[in-house]
Amino acid sequence: MDGKMSDESYDIIIVGGGLVGNSLALALAESSLRVAVIEAIDYEQKTDSADDNRAIGLSYTSQRILQKLGVWSKIEAKVHPIDSVHISLQGRFGVATISAAEQGLASLGCNVDIHYLQKILADSVRLEAQLALYAPYRVSTCQRVEGQWQLALTNGFIEKKLKARLVVAADGSDSELRRTMGITAQVWDYQQSALVSRLTFSKPLNNRSYERFTPFGLMAILPAGESEATFILSTSHENAAYWQSVDEKTRLQQLHSAWGYRLGRLQSLSPAINYPLRRIEAHTLHQEGFVLIGNAAQTLHPVAAQGFNLGLRSAMMLAEVVQWSQKVGRDYADAAVLAEYVDKQAQDRKQIARFTHFLVSRFAADSEFFNHWQPLALCGLEWVPGAKFLLARLGLGGAQKALWV
Ligand SMILES: Cc1cc2nc3c(=O)[nH]c(=O)nc-3n(C[C@H](O)[C@H](O)[C@H](O)COP(=O)(O)OP(=O)(O)OC[C@H]3O[C@@H](n4cnc5c(N)ncnc54)[C@H](O)[C@@H]3O)c2cc1C
Repeated sequence: MDGKMSDESYDIIIVGGGLVGNSLALALAESSLRVAVIEAIDYEQKTDSADDNRAIGLSYTSQRILQKLGVWSKIEAKVHPIDSVHISLQGRFGVATISAAEQGLASLGCNVDIHYLQKILADSVRLEAQLALYAPYRVSTCQRVEGQWQLALTNGFIEKKLKARLVVAADGSDSELRRTMGITAQVWDYQQSALVSRLTFSKPLNNRSYERFTPFGLMAILPAGESEATFILSTSHENAAYWQSVDEKTRLQQLHSAWGYRLGRLQSLSPAINYPLRRIEAHTLHQEGFVLIGNAAQTLHPVAAQGFNLGLRSAMMLAEVVQWSQKVGRDYADAAVLAEYVDKQAQDRKQIARFTHFLVSRFAADSEFFNHWQPLALCGLEWVPGAKFLLARLGLGGAQKALWV
């Protein structure tokens, strides 16, 4: 711990200081509640993109939320705006372009390096006098004792026991707390991997991102600089194994045949990091004094770049419900209050999960839809009035009217 609080009993303990847990902590920092975050990794030491090279696409709503949390000015310095998205099919008729200008928007969103985002959020939590941070500490047990939770944590040398009225599990897709609480989850294994690399080329991207459906898999190019991008290939495990086994020259040649020369000459492609793709949905999100949030509550396929954006909106909603319940004299740890939070974000959660699942299942390279209907679907985006607007809105995270934006 950073030595800011000596009392090891808290109102709220957030387990998992990842993107969502830390955002929630910042959203609660101005309340009078005593809040602690427990995180297994020391983000101060973790700056190496060799273990996680993802770029996170932030929606417009997320940018507004991060502004409200007081961290946007630092993040903004390193974001890459997306002004348009070009969606196409390799070797087929069918192209759609969604542009911010056409939709009357300032931008469609932006990308930021995940390490940078994690570091800014973790630093802000560390510097916030109202928050206690235990990092690196891993929670090993969580037990109900006399109406409170008692958590045991360790960093390998020191063991601690903390108490809290409300425990928020923001401990990621394989949430140990979810399991400890006996909450089951439905898991869909897409039998796919996302391979993420850095790509450089000779032409400027002009703030445009590209998605291309190819028989080999879905390829996405997301701006990470003037002539630099994060390249994501979502494909079967078999294709992924092949892709990782061939040398850079072969991969660049194959990219040239899939993309042509719209990006000019492709110059370099870093080794890919492999992220297995799953959809996970917890069957229940809360119990008395306990709630799941972020990837622990639901994990999405990254095709629509919505996992963190959704988690961030949920964090704001939870903070709002907790603070409101305090104001009206209700107990924020009460199962009925937590059920109100769950209800308030249910529609957003359902809509985004369905939208993402629809994209994955319908646009998979081996699906019947891909073979017969996909070109028509892309044309539909161009021709059906309002279709692109809806897609742009979903991407912006603007489907839900919220108080914080
Ligand atoms: C390839 C890829 C690309 C993506 N792109 C996007 C995108 O463009 N936009 C978007 O919105 N989303 C994207 N996502 C999804 C996004 O990364 C996740 O939704 C987000 O990181 C989830 O954050 P989280 O805080 O819920 O979980 P995590 O980031 O998994 O954080 C959980 C934290 O809990 C800690 N922890 C776990 N167990 C314990 C324990 N017992 N004790 C203490 N600490 C513990 C872990 O160390 C970790 O820091 C992408 C995902 C992938 C795989």
